[in-house]
Amino acid sequence: MLKIGSHVSMSGKEMMLSSVKEALSYDATTFMFYTGAPQNTARKPVEQLCVDEAKQLMKEHGINIDDVVVHAPYIINLANTIKPETYELAVRFLKQEIERCEAIGISRLVLHPGSHVKAGDQVGLDQIIKGLNEVLRPDQKVKIALETMAGKGSELGRDFDQLQYIIEHVELNEYLGVCLDTCHLHDAGYDLEQFDDILNEFDEKIGLERVLVVHVNDSKNERGAHKDRHENIGYGYIGFEILNKVVHHPKLKDVPKILETPYIQEHAPYKEEIKMFVDQTFNNGLK
Ligand code: FE
Ligand code: FE
Ligand code: ZN
Repeated sequence: MLKIGSHVSMSGKEMMLSSVKEALSYDATTFMFYTGAPQNTARKPVEQLCVDEAKQLMKEHGINIDDVVVHAPYIINLANTIKPETYELAVRFLKQEIERCEAIGISRLVLHPGSHVKAGDQVGLDQIIKGLNEVLRPDQKVKIALETMAGKGSELGRDFDQLQYIIEHVELNEYLGVCLDTCHLHDAGYDLEQFDDILNEFDEKIGLERVLVVHVNDSKNERGAHKDRHENIGYGYIGFEILNKVVHHPKLKDVPKILETPYIQEHAPYKEEIKMFVDQTFNNGLK
């Protein structure tokens, strides 16, 4: 079975139960959510998230909690050496986020490695390593998936060498993996037409067993643009054929695939986009 879904919201009284219902409405077999607003760190206690009800509904529909993904908020920046309070907030929040994920039963937590904000690549990378060493615990249940980034501004994690460097230097790196984002890889300069070569390079430098999540997005920009603007599947510079190969790649068979494409006129496109990958046929009537 193809493990595919999208990011979904978590809101209202039903919280995570509403996330599951949203995922099911797209015929998804997995999903990704933020434990609160993506742009801030305010979080409700896990007891208020309707986790048991959510899990019950997942069980009835064959969604495995092991395949479900949480994304840390994007304001979290472990690489910041300019403002100590930003780094400290990141460390504090991530420790709590790991505990929250464990309480829910989540095993995959996606994290943007961070931006060096003018301090330079090396300083930023070393700060991320320092932060992860503070955050990770020897007995933890959740793995952190460092996301491949487009290289917008001073974003780190824009190539496999940077991710390899971070992973190699973190002590408890058995809890680290990677989230491959197709839009970000393309925007960072990787040629997804040569996806086998990309996976070979990844395997040499990092190890394929570390791929924990794939974010499946088309891109509004040319390869190497460092822009990070997601496009609907088949409507951007990557195209359906290539994305379909990624989604069905035998080496990534067990990895959850998550769509983060934009809404089309206030309509979530995920049901149609998931169907494209299930049928392996491009729907040119989406927009
Ligand atoms: Fe992300
Ligand atoms: Fe992503
Ligand atoms: Zn993105």
